[in-house]
Formats: sequence, C-alpha cells, structure tokens
Amino acid sequence: MVKNSSSYVGRLAPSPTGDLHLGHARTFWIAAERARQAGGKLLLRNDDIDANRFKFDYVATTIEDLHWLGFTWEEPMVSQSDHIPLYRAALQTLHTAGLIYPCAHSRRDVLEAAGAPHEGSEHDEPVYPTQFRPPVDSPVPELKDTISINWRFRVPDGEELTFQDGSAGKQTARVGHDFGDFVVWRKDNIPSYQLTCVVDEIAMGITEVVRGADLIRSTFRQLLLFRALGHTPPAFYHCPLMLDDQGERLAKRHDSLSLRTLREQGVTPEEIISKFGDLL
Ligand code: GLU
Repeated sequence: MVKNSSSYVGRLAPSPTGDLHLGHARTFWIAAERARQAGGKLLLRNDDIDANRFKFDYVATTIEDLHWLGFTWEEPMVSQSDHIPLYRAALQTLHTAGLIYPCAHSRRDVLEAAGAPHEGSEHDEPVYPTQFRPPVDSPVPELKDTISINWRFRVPDGEELTFQDGSAGKQTARVGHDFGDFVVWRKDNIPSYQLTCVVDEIAMGITEVVRGADLIRSTFRQLLLFRALGHTPPAFYHCPLMLDDQGERLAKRHDSLSLRTLREQGVTPEEIISKFGDLL
C-alpha cells in the first residue's frame, strides 16, 4: 500500500498522567490499524494541558511504550501545552457568538443540584441545572487575560443530536437531558478537554477520531463545539472498553496490567498485539 495515499488523518492522544495499560494499547492499535488500512497518516497528540494532573516523566515513558509496541507516527508530536493561543482564539469566537457565560457555582453546588452523579469518563460532568444559568439576554462580561471563573457553553436544550459511529453504530443524545451546559475554560485558567480536543482535531486536520467508548458522551458536546466554531466534525470510531476479570474498566490504577509491568514480566509486544487481531 502506498503510504499516505489517502486523505485519512488519525491520531493517538495519550494523556501523560500515568503508565499506559493494555486498554490503551488496544485502542491505539485499532487507531493505528485504521490509519494504515486507509493508507493515511497517524499523528501523536500529547494531551498535556492539565498541568495539575500531567507529569513530565510520563511523556517520555508514553512515547517509549508506544515505540515498544511498534507504533509509528508522523513527527512532530503535537503538545497541547503549545496550543494555548489556539484554544484562547476559539474561546473568543464562542464569546463573540454569545455562546458562553461565566459560572460561579462550585462543583459541589452543581453535583448537589444535579442529583445523581454522572457516570462515564473522567471528562464527563453532571447535567448542569438550568436554574443556575443566566438568562439568555443578560450581558456577558468580557474575557479576562487570566481566567479565574469557569466559563460554560450554553447547550441548545431539547435538540436531538445524532452521529453514526464507525464501531458502535448510530448514537443519539438529547441535549439538556443527557448532558447540560459544560465547561470550556476552567477557573484555574486551563481550557477544558472538550474545547482543546475540538480545536486540535480542526488544527491537525483529523478525519477520524478513534478512542474509547467512555468518550461517546463527550463526543456530543464536541459536536456542538465543531458547529459553533464553523467546522464539520471528523468521523468517530469508539472502541469497546477493555474490562478486567471482575468486569471493571481497566484504568491506570491497574498497575498489574500496565505495559511496563507486562514488559518486565517478559511479555512481548507481539504477544500483546496478537490478542487484538480479531477486533477490526
Ligand atoms: N487524552 C484523552 C484521554 O486520554 C484523549 C481523549 C481523546 O482521544 O479524545 O482521555
């Protein structure tokens, strides 16, 4: 197959917050295979925007683990920490369009008012109570250079959003019911995952996003951001999550299944990857 013979552009987007585990390896393998089979290219995005959570050492160990597994990508790697001006420009676009507002309610206020905790990925948040929203016609303050209040995206309540997922099939969500107004910029002056992800898919020209099924609910929020920023979303392919023996999702705390531990135990990349072959 001729390399890069198609317009397909995929990405691997690890967060340097811990050791990669088998679940990451599986999702990344699917992403890499889909790019290879499409004759497209694969980029590496280092999701290092959240300075409170990321550790510099994990950038190097993540890259090493990915190389060990045999993945290759087009250089240079893209680091989100280099893209702050892009995220800020997108925030300004949303502000100018009147789509965001500052919200002083604490996480606890929101959780208490929302009732049930929200399950899903670490990027999920409870449905924002509409009684906390400022009225549509109330004046919106200017954006400060250093942001010290959460800014939320006002979602179009009642709209039904749909997308066709390449793996999970047709997905539908009711806006305002399945998710509500969500944070685009945090009070600690860090842009949210939802915003950074959409801005980067656009900036990197990503044509298909391959990631874990825990992010399906985030995808609906991101669809609203693509629309608000005037861009067509990429295709989505959400891989089924890998479960452990107890049926629990693999998370970074399952150290026994980290790629580092497996490697120390003498497991080879071929042995790991041979288990994924029937997934596509
Ligand atoms: N770094 C994000 C995560 O690990 C990536 C999500 C994505 O692929 O969009 O949760």
